[in-house]
Amino acid sequence: MAEREVYPIEVEFPDISAYAEGNAGLPYAYTFDSSVPGPHVMINALTHGNEVCGAIAVCGLLDAGLRLRRGKLTLAFANVDAYARFDPANPDASRFVDQDFNRVWSEAALDDASRDSSELRRARAMRPLVDSVDWLLDLHSMHERSAPLNVCGPHDKGIALARRLGVPAWIVSDAGHPEGRRMRDYGGFGEAGSPKEALLVECGQHWEAQAVAVARDCSARFLLLAGVIDEQDLPAGWLAAPGAPVKVVRVTEPVVARSMDFRFAGPYTGLETFPEQGSVIGWNAGEPVTTPYPNCVLVMPSLRQLRAGVTVVRFGQLLP
Ligand SMILES: [Zn+2]
Repeated sequence: MAEREVYPIEVEFPDISAYAEGNAGLPYAYTFDSSVPGPHVMINALTHGNEVCGAIAVCGLLDAGLRLRRGKLTLAFANVDAYARFDPANPDASRFVDQDFNRVWSEAALDDASRDSSELRRARAMRPLVDSVDWLLDLHSMHERSAPLNVCGPHDKGIALARRLGVPAWIVSDAGHPEGRRMRDYGGFGEAGSPKEALLVECGQHWEAQAVAVARDCSARFLLLAGVIDEQDLPAGWLAAPGAPVKVVRVTEPVVARSMDFRFAGPYTGLETFPEQGSVIGWNAGEPVTTPYPNCVLVMPSLRQLRAGVTVVRFGQLLP
């Protein structure tokens, strides 16, 4: 089944130890200031320790010695302790150390001194820096091979920014996960009335070379859109050719497995679109799972973490 497909590791995992010192009083984070007014832009990699495409892009930007024209730029590697544990023989295991770094970004979790984990310690250390950021791009990748996704949050401001960026062509608007808040939804990023902006880009399958090209293209376009660099400042070859027109999907509801007895009706990998309401997409403990409305899109189906109570896919509505 596609859910259990083993994907080849097509990319080298860079040694990031040379960036350990940082320059912002924080290991593995670098902030550059143009001394010209403009936004503080952050490109973040390794929110998940096995999602290497962002780390390759951030290494590339650090090594390029970018000339910053306006504002400030922070380049960071987040869950470096998880990344350090990457083992090609067990590549899914290094997503995090103690808990998902992308579920700890609520004030309640960050402020709760009774809670501790490797990820909370890193998030608390990064928090003052993140608090000063106006525009965040968080680079991720996915379990399954699928078209890249621009995960823009629940508000119209995120959809508008994702449309202006233009890549990836698939834009997914969602409210996040009940288990905890994502970095992209933290503070002003997640408030409709705040001018702060954040996008989370799923660049492709974790270890495919194409995901690196997507991470570079999205980073380049994000920096240009924010206005902190000019096009001639970019490393050669980073901008890809313009892609397809964007499609916007608003996530409406999760499908939660009732038991280990869940199966999909096909080898779905994501973005399958069902024109008809009531199409059967799988069986949950023997009961058919059907699409709740016309033009329903499957968002990130996966049975890799299957157990009772786990979200195995989310339904999304294709917006006109
Ligand atoms: Zn991720």
